[in-house]
Amino acid sequence: MPVRILVVGAGCTGAAASLRLRQQLGSAASIQVWEKARGAGGRYTTSRDTYPDGMRADMGAQYASVDPQDAESVAVMQAIVESAAAELVNSESLSDNAERPCDFLHYRGVGGQNSIVKAMLSSAKAEVVYERRVSKLDLRGKAWRATAYDGASEDFDAVVMCVPGIGPGGDNLNKIHGNWERCLTNDHWKSVETPHDCRYSVALWLASGHQEALAAFFGNSSEKKVKSNNVELLFWQSRKDSEPFDGPQVIVAHTAQGARGNKQQMEPRIISESCNAIGIPNNARTITSKKIITWFQSQVVSTKSSKDCVVACCQPPLVLAGDYCVASTFTGCVKSAFAAVSEIVPLLDGQATQDSGKIADRCQKGDKPQATSGNDAKNGYTSQAVFGNGRETQRGNRRDACSDCNRRDKCFKDDSDGKMYCASCWKHYYGKDPRSMGA
Ligand SMILES: Cc1cc2nc3c(=O)[nH]c(=O)nc-3n(C[C@H](O)[C@H](O)[C@H](O)COP(=O)(O)OP(=O)(O)OC[C@H]3O[C@@H](n4cnc5c(N)ncnc54)[C@H](O)[C@@H]3O)c2cc1C
Repeated sequence: MPVRILVVGAGCTGAAASLRLRQQLGSAASIQVWEKARGAGGRYTTSRDTYPDGMRADMGAQYASVDPQDAESVAVMQAIVESAAAELVNSESLSDNAERPCDFLHYRGVGGQNSIVKAMLSSAKAEVVYERRVSKLDLRGKAWRATAYDGASEDFDAVVMCVPGIGPGGDNLNKIHGNWERCLTNDHWKSVETPHDCRYSVALWLASGHQEALAAFFGNSSEKKVKSNNVELLFWQSRKDSEPFDGPQVIVAHTAQGARGNKQQMEPRIISESCNAIGIPNNARTITSKKIITWFQSQVVSTKSSKDCVVACCQPPLVLAGDYCVASTFTGCVKSAFAAVSEIVPLLDGQATQDSGKIADRCQKGDKPQATSGNDAKNGYTSQAVFGNGRETQRGNRRDACSDCNRRDKCFKDDSDGKMYCASCWKHYYGKDPRSMGA
């Protein structure tokens, strides 16, 4: 009977962990990936619009950045390139900016950035279950029982949790409850709660006829830094994807790190500044479609973890991995994922390392996090991950953080995207009170 392993999250880290598990365990493992979204990618996400013709926009990372000194992530990327899912970008055509280290190699996904993640999942031959959001993880005897929001539950021999660390927004460790939380020490909680910057990303689908203005603005490049109040970087997605020059075009705007405000206020400003910078009209004939994403946890500002992953429990194994352990790059994700698998494999064989032996003792004794100055990890660990205005995340607070303004308040679930919004942001968007719409 193959060992049953659950990977939570089909982002870059989850896909790399699945790939490594398959490389190390072969058919001895049944690998399931539970992903809350409709598709793979996470922050390597690619959106497609119905007009024109499904032209895509990379709404998170525009590139996968690889440290040429790190042999393992170089090898993983090389395999992805050989499978024709990614290609190296000429670094000279890229601007120098805070989103990526300038001495790294940068790759674009041939079918959008999420094709890099999909390529790893496909090599891993993992069973990916989309629209399955883990709400609880509980130790039940010798297995981890994962429960999804839709009520589905299943037992696993090991779990690799590859969701963002604790912070603002909702799609992260904050929202996964259960007795797994008791496995983490105070030091663990600190290392999974890293400061991230916040950015907005806006994609604009443009009607054809604006290619000359785009060419004049971007010159020979497919991206350009902008000096304006909110927009920091503009990407010419269609040029990056070698779409026909005379057809409709897609551009993507990123705000600077530490963006503030809510998305209803920000969207028109970002659109107006982008149109002004490029020199195109800001009207419905030009902009045929648009999309905004708020990245509350965009990229890790500094890591707190002294290790590349967090071993929360040894028997049965539970390991936490993600860019927050290393760095917000492709290499950071691969390093953390591979470290998680290096911890898990000997544990499955019953060969604990010296370090994991100590953790096993702790888990077996049922050690709980020690309260420090009243901020117990379970009952409200005070966040050091400060978001923009210095707001703090509070574990154990019954109120949700609004997915738009991030204020902790009574929130209502919007079934159209599965996210929680406070009454004020809901009303701003729909023009009606959430209760009057049956939320
Ligand atoms: C604007 C921006 C620009 C960037 N630029 C670059 C760049 O130039 N180069 C670079 O290398 N990197 C860049 N990055 C960073 C890179 O995108 C991240 O480091 C990387 O995508 C993190 O991958 P991850 O798998 O750790 O996390 P994520 O991509 O966040 O994946 C986590 C996954 O878990 C899922 N999930 C969350 N909660 C649950 C749950 N309860 N149940 C099931 N699934 C769940 C999420 O839906 C998501 O798919 C950028 C990021 C942003 C936002």
